[in-house]
Amino acid sequence: MNPKLSKSKSEEWFKRAKAVIPGGVNSPVRAFTSVGETPPFITKGSEAYLWDEDGNQYIDYVCSWGPLILGHAHPEIVKTVKSAAENGLTFGAATRNEVILAEIIQSAIPSIQKLRLVTSGTEAAMTAVRLARAFTGKKMILKFEGCYHGHADPFLVKAGSGLLTFGTPSSRGIPEEVSSSTLVAHYNAEADLDEIFMKQGKDIACVIVEPVAGNMGVVLPKLGFLEKLSSLCRQTKTVLIFDEVITGFRTCYGGYQNLCGISPDLTCLGKIIGGGLPMAAVGGKNEIMSLLSPEGPVYQAGTLAGNPAAVAAGIATLKVLNQKKEKIYEELEQKTAWLTSKIKNAAEKLKLPIKINRMGSMFTLFFSDNPVESFSDVISSRTNLYKPFFKEMLENKIYLPPSAFEAWFMSTAHRQQDLEKTAQYAEKAFIKVKAALTLL
Ligand SMILES: *Cc1c(COP(=O)(O)O)cnc(C)c1O
Repeated sequence: MNPKLSKSKSEEWFKRAKAVIPGGVNSPVRAFTSVGETPPFITKGSEAYLWDEDGNQYIDYVCSWGPLILGHAHPEIVKTVKSAAENGLTFGAATRNEVILAEIIQSAIPSIQKLRLVTSGTEAAMTAVRLARAFTGKKMILKFEGCYHGHADPFLVKAGSGLLTFGTPSSRGIPEEVSSSTLVAHYNAEADLDEIFMKQGKDIACVIVEPVAGNMGVVLPKLGFLEKLSSLCRQTKTVLIFDEVITGFRTCYGGYQNLCGISPDLTCLGKIIGGGLPMAAVGGKNEIMSLLSPEGPVYQAGTLAGNPAAVAAGIATLKVLNQKKEKIYEELEQKTAWLTSKIKNAAEKLKLPIKINRMGSMFTLFFSDNPVESFSDVISSRTNLYKPFFKEMLENKIYLPPSAFEAWFMSTAHRQQDLEKTAQYAEKAFIKVKAALTLL
C-alpha cells in the first residue's frame, strides 16, 4: 500500500508562488483549478515517476503534456544535453546540430521539404499562419472548435452558435479585428465543410487542424474528415496545416500524416522533438517555406531558436526512437491497449458508462454513455465526474492530467507493475465516482 499522500510542503510553496506568479503557475492548467486540488510541486522525475516536495512518488501519465515519450531523465538524453551544455548554452549563431536535427525531421516526414526550428508550439502555429497568408494573399483562417494551437491571438477564439461562425475572443485582450479573421467550425463535421468552403473558400488562407485532436481530450478523426478537408483545400488553393505538436513522433515515427496518408502543406511540430527542452518547428513545402526571411519576405526570428542544448535533446530523442522504432511503437501500443482495456473492464463491472478514446499511446477517459466524436460530445460528457476520479487517483499517487479535457500519455518507461497498480486504483476510483454519482 502507498503511504498516505502528504501535501503540506506543496501547499506552502503554492501559497508563496501565488504571491509572486499569477495563479502561482507559469501555465494555467498546472494550477489544478478544475479538479480543485493543490498542485504538487515537483522536485524530480525519473523513468515513469515523479517526486514532489513532500516526498510523494507518483506514476506519471502527464509526461510533461507529451514530450516525454521516453520517460523522465532518459540516460541517453541527459548525457547528450550535459555534453552540449559543457560546450556553451547558446551562441545565437549557426551550428551543425541544427542541420542534423532538421535533416532527421525532414527524412521522417515526407511532406516536410524545409523547416525552421522555433522554441514553442505557439510560435510554430503563429508562423505557419503568417506563411499561409503570405503565400495565398488571403486573410481568413479556419480552425476547429476544441483544437488548440497555442496562445497566439488568432487562435484564442471560440465559436458562436450556428454552422460556421466568426470567432469571438475566448480571452480578454484580443481585438475584434483579430478574432473576426478566424472562422471556427466543428471538428469531424465533414458535411459542414462543403458549405463553409463554398461560402468562404476564396477568403480562407489556411485551415489548421490537429489531425488527431488532443486538446479537448483525445478525439479521433472520423474516416473521411481529413480527406475531405485536404481535397477542399486543394480545390480552393487553401493551405492545409497539420498541427502535429502532440501527434508528431507520438502516433508513429514521423507524423500522424504518415499513418493517414494525407500530405499537408505545412506541419507544426513541438513537444517530442525537443525531448523535454523548449523546441518546436514549422515545416512543409519548399515553395511556402522559402518565403521565410532571409530567403523571402515573411519575417520570423528567435534569439534562442535552435538552442544547442534543446537541439541535442531533440536529436538524442529522435535517434532513440528511430533506432528501435518498430519495437518502441509496438510496445507503446500494447501497453496502452492493455491499460485502457483494464480500465474499461473495471468501469463495466460497476456499470459506470465510460468511453476511452485512444490513438496509440495517447488516450482520454470520458464519463459518457455515447461515443465522443466532437467538441460538443466532450462538453456533454459528465466532466464533473472526473474530479472525484482524479482526486482518488492522486491520493493513490497516480498523476493524471488535472483536467477532463486533456490527453493522458504512456511512455516507454512505464512498466507492467505500474500499469497494474494504475488499473487497480482506477477500479477504486470508479467506486468513488459511483458514490459521487448517487449524490449528484
Ligand atoms: C501544446 C500544443 C501547442 C502549443 O505548444 P507550446 O509549446 O505549449 O506553445 C500547439 N498545438 C498543439 C496541438 C499542442 O498540443
